[in-house]
Amino acid sequence: MKITDVRTTVLITRSIIVQVFTDEGLVGLGECSPMHATIVSTFVDEVLKPRVLGLDPRCVDEVWSRMFYAPYKLGVQGVHLEAMSGVDIACWDILGKAVGMPIWQLLGGRYRERVTMYKSIGGGMGLAPAEMAAKVEQALAEGFRAVKIRMDWGPARQDADPAKDLAMFRACKKVTGDDALLSFDPNNGYSVSTAIRQGRRFEDLGIYHYEEPVAQYDYAGIAQVADALDVPVSAGEHEYTRWQFRDLITQAKVDIIQPDIVKSGGITETRRIAVLGDTYNKPFVPHQTQPTIGTAANLHLIASLVNANRPQEYTGVNPRLDALFRDPLRFADGQITVPTGPGLGLELAPGALERLRSPE
Ligand code: CA
Repeated sequence: MKITDVRTTVLITRSIIVQVFTDEGLVGLGECSPMHATIVSTFVDEVLKPRVLGLDPRCVDEVWSRMFYAPYKLGVQGVHLEAMSGVDIACWDILGKAVGMPIWQLLGGRYRERVTMYKSIGGGMGLAPAEMAAKVEQALAEGFRAVKIRMDWGPARQDADPAKDLAMFRACKKVTGDDALLSFDPNNGYSVSTAIRQGRRFEDLGIYHYEEPVAQYDYAGIAQVADALDVPVSAGEHEYTRWQFRDLITQAKVDIIQPDIVKSGGITETRRIAVLGDTYNKPFVPHQTQPTIGTAANLHLIASLVNANRPQEYTGVNPRLDALFRDPLRFADGQITVPTGPGLGLELAPGALERLRSPE
């Protein structure tokens, strides 16, 4: 079997869908991180496609290496790895379709048939505490039993309004009570001392995990926060390869690793990262913002891993994107059923890709 074509489609949602075509008629589906969609899709078309044409897509590891090492000076993180992720996921989809098995089976079988998800709610810096609390209430009504609130501060707005963050957490905790888990993500927006002080208050109120408390590049600072607090500190959406995760684990001392499968090199590399995490006894809770192909790829990996039993990130059902598929992912009672069809277990609905294609 040989790869005959690789095509990218940027959707009106800025999602980047990758299709890998073969000489045997099988077509694989993949997805890249949607940030900087035009640049990432151009990287697939101009840099990766010429290097994978003619390769056997079932040799996922070799395809990964060809994409990684030849353009080494162009990236090794960011756009390069995000572009690779879409092609890698599509090759796994082809491998599964070729042998008639879901990807989780190819990865060694599954520990779970359904995966418990947490609702990830962002935009906190622009909301009043009561507005965020209403969103948390809505998430519980949708069936979630775990929620994360995100502030979106970023390192450039360091310590902008910790008092409001605390008021927001308190208001949301009143909604969840002890029935649902509540996590907090200032999106790298605290100094080390503020992160520790806030963290102690969140611990008193009851926090499940504390995500990216300080700047993503400050590994010594993350380690100080993780050392000072009991709550699990998590990070990983800014890291890409197993080598970066080695440093995140050993230098930043995070308690939970959060690679993103549409950023960090697809299923091939994210599995390596997950196994590295297991080596250090770190739970695997991938960052995920893409609720269809990206989430499906994650579900197969999560299902196959012993260290993936915490609630997993989900931005919620997106009917506009679900319309892409004949049989979209099924979410109910706070859980998504792991697909059982060959490959990813997702089939495009006829004409849907064209209908959702971005006009730009
Ligand atoms: Ca985050």
